[in-house]
Amino acid sequence: MTQIYDKVALIGLGLIAGSMGLAMKKAGLAGTIVGHAKSEATRTTALQLGLVDTVCATAAEAVADADLVVLCVPVGAMNTVAAEIGPALKVGATVSDVGSVKARVIEMVQPHLPNTVHFVPAHPIAGTENSGPNAGFAELFMGKWTILTPVPNANEAATEQLRQLWAAMGAKVDVMEPERHDLVLSVTSHVPHLIAYTMVGVADDLERVTDKEVIEFSTGGFRDFTRIAASDPTMWRDVFLNNKEATLDILGRFTEELFDLQRAIRRGDGDQLFDHFTRTRAIRRGIVEAGHDTSADDFGRAPKKDD
Ligand code: NAP
Repeated sequence: MTQIYDKVALIGLGLIAGSMGLAMKKAGLAGTIVGHAKSEATRTTALQLGLVDTVCATAAEAVADADLVVLCVPVGAMNTVAAEIGPALKVGATVSDVGSVKARVIEMVQPHLPNTVHFVPAHPIAGTENSGPNAGFAELFMGKWTILTPVPNANEAATEQLRQLWAAMGAKVDVMEPERHDLVLSVTSHVPHLIAYTMVGVADDLERVTDKEVIEFSTGGFRDFTRIAASDPTMWRDVFLNNKEATLDILGRFTEELFDLQRAIRRGDGDQLFDHFTRTRAIRRGIVEAGHDTSADDFGRAPKKDD
């Protein structure tokens, strides 16, 4: 494949940056990839794993001369990192990010950027419960959506170049308003994670059921909750702190539905339960038919690194 950027700087060298580095290298999409992470240990590991070509001790050094800078740090660190790189950015560079929340990230990052660079925020809807530089793999974005949320009056050529990069890493690319993105993701990802965290916490607190019983007799549903609830605590803390409004809106609706089902169980209203489960089953079928998941017993979630 042809090179899309001469020099790319990845700030943060965990699951997402590591996967981007490997995917870009595999397809020859960047001339040079420079990386920076907060700790020296991560920088050394990233270099040893070949996620990037070189590493720098500061984010400002890493972005010097870069044509594309991608902020791959937790949402809560975006502000600090943007403040540090702002004065060091090359004229005409594109700055992007991979944060799971978009409106707040734009609010945090944009004020620090000079008007000589193009800001094109993005969110790859791809991940695993693993984090850190060892978790990255080149195929992570294959067949998954990446949403671009360009700011008003975004430079079209810069947006198109970034779209090409994500497409070349195997992603399907769409464009959305940041607020729309945050609402959609609160339904499809953020609140489901909160529910998983809650349910696994309930099982942990329940003294009448032993840990051994929970582990031995967990069914597909609970096992899947534990996988989701094993996700990175820093990342998810930051998601809820920074997508507050949409999450609280969807959580309110969820609680109302839950009370409705609770009442149906108490009253023995089988029709209501049956109708509800029939409606939700159709959504699951839609997801499988759209190719986003599989009907296999393990939900197709066995490790996929070698796919
Ligand atoms: P991760 O594996 O935990 O990696 C985070 C990286 O950021 C680490 O290398 C960390 O360095 C670095 N970092 C943290 N604070 C920093 C700072 N102040 N300056 C420089 N580097 C800093 O995280 P991830 O899963 O790749 O997530 C990164 C971003 O992608 C987040 O914004 C997240 O919302 C988004 N995202 C995640 C997923 C997912 O499923 N994981 C999916 C889509 C998008 P050290 O190791 O040295 O601490």
